[in-house]
Amino acid sequence: MKLTELTVRNFRNIASLDIELPETGVVIIGGNGQGKTNLLEAIYYLVLFRSFRGAKDRELVRFGTSGFFVAGSAAARVTAGYEVAGQKKKVTVDRSPVQRMGAAVGRVLAVSFSPADRDIVAGGPAARRRYLDVLLSLSAPRYLTQLTAMRAALKQRNAALRVGRGDAARAFDGPFAAAGSAVRAARATWVAQWADRFQSTCAALGERAEASMAYEGPSGGEGNADAADLEQALAGAIDRDLRRGITTVGPHRDELRLTVARRSLRRYGSAGQHRTAAIALRLMEAAALASATGEAPIALYDDVFAELDAERQVNLLALIQDTLPGQAIVAAPRDSEVPPALLDRPRWTMTGGQLEA
Ligand code: ATP
Ligand code: MG
Repeated sequence: MKLTELTVRNFRNIASLDIELPETGVVIIGGNGQGKTNLLEAIYYLVLFRSFRGAKDRELVRFGTSGFFVAGSAAARVTAGYEVAGQKKKVTVDRSPVQRMGAAVGRVLAVSFSPADRDIVAGGPAARRRYLDVLLSLSAPRYLTQLTAMRAALKQRNAALRVGRGDAARAFDGPFAAAGSAVRAARATWVAQWADRFQSTCAALGERAEASMAYEGPSGGEGNADAADLEQALAGAIDRDLRRGITTVGPHRDELRLTVARRSLRRYGSAGQHRTAAIALRLMEAAALASATGEAPIALYDDVFAELDAERQVNLLALIQDTLPGQAIVAAPRDSEVPPALLDRPRWTMTGGQLEA
């Protein structure tokens, strides 16, 4: 997929930007705090209609203004606007307003590589579930609908638990189990399908110890994806849930377990191993999106090459050629931080939120 045009208004420190993007992409050079990540965040906003840094929409609004607007043309023309007043978000695809955000998610398809991806590996389980949720929302047709339904049921069940109403809470067991088991099944299936690829991608990047990936339910097993069983587990947990005021069983507590040499990567991995595994996960995300949609996603690289040793950098470039042969938007503070193989595209500079060719 290729982004041919991009328009940005009042998004972070970018006041106004209208650009045409070359087929191969661009290299964006700029000092710290000049707006490189902001630009990538604006582009990725067209994928999920949310910040890839997990920021709230109102934080994306340029200081002193009332709202932001981002538009891009790829296979479709996608626009997204947000107004602080009323907290209104408006999305259009090919000029038609979109009612359900889920229907527009993934119309622009990109994968973002960032040093912050290390949190997927080194952070808590929520970061790893989010990785799976984003990937599956963009590649599995009904996943986002089921995830949304699961979250809605969970929210209501928890609200009832907090005020000590067990019966009211249990009314949501059925809907939560129905949606939750579908979510769990999709995650477990994907992980089983791609587990070898995690091992081989880590190895191809230069990891010498064996890496593994597995989906785990609360009891350490694979995560039972049967709706009736999940409903029964919820019923069995009701006393504990009432005491704690939250739902203690379900896919919202599952784990994507990553190991190197059979030990938890999160707990025992080195900084370099964390980085390698995070990059492997992003490369797999790109491959999974490409196999689901038949098209390689746009690649957004936020200063990821500088962190790797020479060997891993060469390995990564080879993997990129295979999985992400299309458009690449590469951000870095200096030319020397960009591998020569990626420097052969137009170079633009970013200063104070302004882009200059
Ligand atoms: P680095 O090389 O350090 O990663 P960068 O070029 O990626 O730098 P960005 O993260 O894109 O930098 O931009 C950070 C700048 O954006 C900061 O100066 C910050 O003050 C500014 N900024 C962040 N949010 C907003 C906002 N809502 N309105 C205006 N400016 C903002
Ligand atoms: Mg940055």
